[in-house]
Amino acid sequence: MQAGRGGLSIWKKPATRDTEVVVIGSGAFGSSTAYHLAALGHKGVALVDAHEIASQTSPRAAGLTKQVRSHPDMSRLAMLSVQKILRFTEELGEPLTYVQSGSVNIARGDDDEAVIRGEITAGKALGLETYEISFDEMSLLAPLIRPAGIRIIAYTPSDLYLEEPGQLPLGYARAAQKQGVSLLLNTRVTGIRVQDGRVAAVATDKGEIHARIVVDAAGAWARLVAEQVRLRVPILPVRHQLYITDPIPGIEPDHAICRIYDAGVYMRPHQGGLLLGGYERDPQFHDMHKFPPGFEIRDLPLDLSVLQRLTQSVRAQVLLDDQLPVREHRGGLPTMTADGLPIIGPVPAIEGLFVASGCCVGGLSISPAVGQMLAEVVHTGKPSPALEAFSLTRFGREYEADAALHEACARQYTGWYSSLPQMPGRG
Ligand SMILES: Cc1cc2nc3c(=O)[nH]c(=O)nc-3n(C[C@H](O)[C@H](O)[C@H](O)COP(=O)(O)OP(=O)(O)OC[C@H]3O[C@@H](n4cnc5c(N)ncnc54)[C@H](O)[C@@H]3O)c2cc1C
Repeated sequence: MQAGRGGLSIWKKPATRDTEVVVIGSGAFGSSTAYHLAALGHKGVALVDAHEIASQTSPRAAGLTKQVRSHPDMSRLAMLSVQKILRFTEELGEPLTYVQSGSVNIARGDDDEAVIRGEITAGKALGLETYEISFDEMSLLAPLIRPAGIRIIAYTPSDLYLEEPGQLPLGYARAAQKQGVSLLLNTRVTGIRVQDGRVAAVATDKGEIHARIVVDAAGAWARLVAEQVRLRVPILPVRHQLYITDPIPGIEPDHAICRIYDAGVYMRPHQGGLLLGGYERDPQFHDMHKFPPGFEIRDLPLDLSVLQRLTQSVRAQVLLDDQLPVREHRGGLPTMTADGLPIIGPVPAIEGLFVASGCCVGGLSISPAVGQMLAEVVHTGKPSPALEAFSLTRFGREYEADAALHEACARQYTGWYSSLPQMPGRG
């Protein structure tokens, strides 16, 4: 044994060659799934990661929750996740710093005004408190924002942000280990062995692990992992970035999360400064085959000018000094899907294989519910109506060609806040 990141003790190589479940990837999706499997009483669970625990895209997130989403089942996942975040430390005994600051969502044009009005109606139908506020009310919640060019503002008081997003997967991994889950770090899955139509084992660079259930939660690499069994998971990793400024007088931790929809820009306080990130107009998708072996997210080339352009685009609404020193600039590779919804659930053609990916830049905030629901599906062997909208089989053959997938993912990414929400049809 040796000490790993965050005081976790880890095995240098697979200690057990026979286990029940292998979860590939210790980011937000994988760690939560492993924890919830253990909580349901599964004894033989191994959480395997090619790198250190929760060290890739998850700790680089902004940590925002957005409970009103364009699809009601996404809203339900996000709402359940907020409840689980509020109880996290009490239930798991692990630290998780959050601020329930609420979020302020802003439309500057006609189309987004309709989106925000739709979100207020959809949120209310789901039992979520969300309503229109005036400029004066906004100035108390988010003093950096001024009213120029703003058409409508919606406020969701129970939205929250995680101060250090990496605490969430790290906490789940630690709690999973306390419940008996084996953490196999710096261990790369190199193959999945399928026998008679069902999962039999995974090959790693440190030996084979027999398992009858495998969860592919490998983030930007999930598609590569699936290719090992000739399965196509239609996702595209996309570069996504944010910056954090030095402290700005007047910014308080409980100031609301702000989103300016048509600009694709979001902001929140961070240690006295401002965290600002957003969706670039010309998204940079990546083919993971093209990175050198040993590539990690920290090696991803970043481009601050993208964020400077996004900042410029909200200059009329956000009171910011042109020369604000950037204290931190970070980015990662979340994965997009053609319809903006994640892929969570079983792979019908291969018994025992499950996927949790296609996070669409919002996986951290739904991971508590995703892990719980996916673990329940694995545990019961029964499909979950709550996950039906996220099934791998919802895609026909239209995205088999990467060009079509690329086009659809780019449409989703560039218009991220601008989809009219579907009204909830189920109770
Ligand atoms: C700048 C930025 C801001 C964001 N803001 C938010 C936000 O505000 N709210 C929100 O909800 N989301 C946000 N996101 C998105 C969020 O970070 C992702 O949705 C989430 O981290 C995805 O988690 P994951 O578990 O799929 O991936 P990861 O965290 O990347 O985990 C995947 C893991 O799989 C491992 N792995 C890969 N291949 C193998 C293999 N062959 N064998 C073993 N292990 C393997 C990797 O080492 C990695 O640890 C943001 C992302 C970025 C980059």
